[in-house]
Amino acid sequence: MQNNAIFCLEMSNFAQKEYDTIVCGAGPAGLMAACTLGRLTGTARRVLLLDKKAPWKEPIFCAEAVSADRLAALWPIDPAFVRGRLSGIYFTSPKRYRAEFYSKNCGLILNRALFHKSIADAAQNHGVECHFDALIHKLERTESGWNVQVSQGGESVTLTAKTIIDASGPSCRLTRNIPCLEGIETGDTDLESGIFAVADGIEHSPEHIELFFGSEFQDGYGWIFPRDGKEVNIGFVLGKSVKNGEPLRQKLMNFIAKNYPKATVKAVYGGMIACGQSNKPLAKCGLFKAGDAASCVNPISRSGIVESLLSGKIAAEAVDQWLKDSGENRGAIEEATLARWMKALGKNHLQIANAKAGFNSITDEQFDKAAKRLSRLPREKQTLIRIFWNVLWSCPSVIWKMRSFLR
Ligand SMILES: Cc1cc2nc3c(=O)[nH]c(=O)nc-3n(C[C@H](O)[C@H](O)[C@H](O)COP(=O)(O)OP(=O)(O)OC[C@H]3O[C@@H](n4cnc5c(N)ncnc54)[C@H](O)[C@@H]3O)c2cc1C
Repeated sequence: MQNNAIFCLEMSNFAQKEYDTIVCGAGPAGLMAACTLGRLTGTARRVLLLDKKAPWKEPIFCAEAVSADRLAALWPIDPAFVRGRLSGIYFTSPKRYRAEFYSKNCGLILNRALFHKSIADAAQNHGVECHFDALIHKLERTESGWNVQVSQGGESVTLTAKTIIDASGPSCRLTRNIPCLEGIETGDTDLESGIFAVADGIEHSPEHIELFFGSEFQDGYGWIFPRDGKEVNIGFVLGKSVKNGEPLRQKLMNFIAKNYPKATVKAVYGGMIACGQSNKPLAKCGLFKAGDAASCVNPISRSGIVESLLSGKIAAEAVDQWLKDSGENRGAIEEATLARWMKALGKNHLQIANAKAGFNSITDEQFDKAAKRLSRLPREKQTLIRIFWNVLWSCPSVIWKMRSFLR
């Protein structure tokens, strides 16, 4: 019997059963949270990072574009995880008028798998115990903290932790129906569907992302993002209230066939994007939310990589304070987590979220008019201020669109 128990523990492969912090999910938010916590606490704390899959082994449902400056402020850019560098965006209207925003080295296309690997390696070097084959079944509040039910290699184990960081992404329900967490952000504010194909045979600029607007992509937008000079990521996101009879995959295939008849589709992926900002608490009872699980995505551009890194960092810093505190100020530390996020990006996201309805009401004619005007300007004349006045003159509501994408 005893031998069996030891066998189970070895099979489950955890160094211990009791941790200071268990980070649930190893996307950008969880990886950054674990790495930051490891860096802040060293070997003084037992930090465990769990994911059901290795974050660099399976396809990642993402177009992989980030702002170079904003990423560099959070994580050193290593050419090893950069697929390509961006120098601009094409905004394309329904009638295919194209406005170009040129800004040298404004963004990067990541190889997210290798990017995840670099953060995971850093977390492990900071003493974080990582398991990328551990499915989390349930979180349960106890008197002294949290129970975490996990299965690994067919074996189940219950681990305990004083604090939890929930970075399990947009559709996970780990924190639902736990009475002490009532009112906390659940990561499903404005949940929207995105789909894309990896394809080649599509003529494109390897230095630009191209965004398509109009009723074809209602309350969202379409995109072509370069990957390696040959392949592209081509896809779209639609607003959550869009009732479209046509399945997303079919819609994508039709878009590709109609506009890029020479394209070869290699694979199709889809996922949910949590793109609404709320004012709900981000931490309660020693549980902290980060990334898509905390609805930290930019509500209009739908970018969430850098946002998740930042929110993971904020959650980890709060957990570090919480663990150091004797108990008196823990409630205040939890409350301050939302305030810190709001100051860093959340307030800005709230404004963007509030502008979303107005932005979504821009008509195809308005998009065409603004894009046609702008497309006539030579690239060197497309300074931000000139674009701003041009667009304002053509269609005031488009200003909101420019504002959120150029942020
Ligand atoms: C189609 C599409 C395109 C996108 N394109 C871009 C883009 O170009 N740029 C950009 O900035 N953002 C983009 N995003 C958004 C970006 O991908 C997300 O915002 C970002 O991945 C969120 O990171 P995260 O760490 O919060 O969650 P995730 O990356 O979703 O990670 C959550 C992790 O938790 C794990 N997990 C969940 N439940 C469990 C469980 N029960 N047990 C164990 N592990 C679990 C999952 O396996 C996963 O690894 C895109 C999203 C989609 C869907």
